Amino acid sequence: MSGTRSPYFTRFRVLTVPANSATANVTPKSNGISQAKKMKKDSCSDTDQVQTKRKIKKETKIEIKQEVIDSFNDEFPKPVIKWEPNNWMLLLNNIRKMREDKNAPIDTMGCEKCKGENYSEKDKRFHLLVSLMLSSQTKDHVTHAAMLRLIDHGLSVESVLKMQDSKLGDLIYPVGFWKKKISYLKRTAEVLKKEYDCDIPNSVEDLVKLPGVGPKMAYLTMTCAWNKVVGIGVDVHVHRIANRLKWVRKQTSEPEKTRKELEDWLPQSYWREVNWLLVGFGQQICLPINPRCSDCLNKDICPSSSAKSRKLKREHL
Ligand code: SF4
Repeated sequence: MSGTRSPYFTRFRVLTVPANSATANVTPKSNGISQAKKMKKDSCSDTDQVQTKRKIKKETKIEIKQEVIDSFNDEFPKPVIKWEPNNWMLLLNNIRKMREDKNAPIDTMGCEKCKGENYSEKDKRFHLLVSLMLSSQTKDHVTHAAMLRLIDHGLSVESVLKMQDSKLGDLIYPVGFWKKKISYLKRTAEVLKKEYDCDIPNSVEDLVKLPGVGPKMAYLTMTCAWNKVVGIGVDVHVHRIANRLKWVRKQTSEPEKTRKELEDWLPQSYWREVNWLLVGFGQQICLPINPRCSDCLNKDICPSSSAKSRKLKREHL
């Protein structure tokens, strides 16, 4: 086999091995010197070429890199990585399942159920505002009963202005802080007559200027009366449950802070629903005191689940 070595094989060996390699001696001696010189020369010119290429490449690379960075930054600003709570979609879907029956007090006696049918649109908006004003610190069934009495009597901006305080008190009693609320209703009716032609304001900024109207009422009024979802209505239930589910980065001390936290990560398409879901859920399962964690579909994933901590304790006994 060695005697019949192919010329292609020899050439291949010569061209591929380094010049100072012992294997270079396999070529005839007469050719060895010139081949080695040629290879050295080739390797020198190769090195120059490689260095030049590298230099060009380096310069070009820097130039392109800068251009690319500039244009990229212009076209695609740095994405802001938003915080969102763990498992929020799963928790929300479980709450949806638990609310499927729609049999919480809010479903039958919430503010949306507190408007007179045979009234003008203007009056219906006023009814919604009044029911929200009465609802603070008051159970839904008490607010609902008071609203039915007011509507039966005739409820409009004009009628509130004409009504004696004592009569208004009779109609709204026993809602929480009913005496204070008589004054709020009277003063609000005066503003609405004077500045809004007996309608209600259609912005949160103007709604919160009315006596006795806070941000929660304003956002809910915008949603229910004007069908504009401009914020989340956060009442005590939404505030409490958002904290229990760790839907806030840090424990919040008041509903307004909870609202801002929620609006920061929760997509706007959920803002209307989340109030209705959490209020009913808070009325039936995630109660203020002694929440019914063992009946809750979130018991294994909720960060505040007492059922989960009881289970863990049992496992470690
Ligand atoms: S597990 Fe308990 S604390 Fe958590 S959401 Fe359910 S009822 Fe509320």
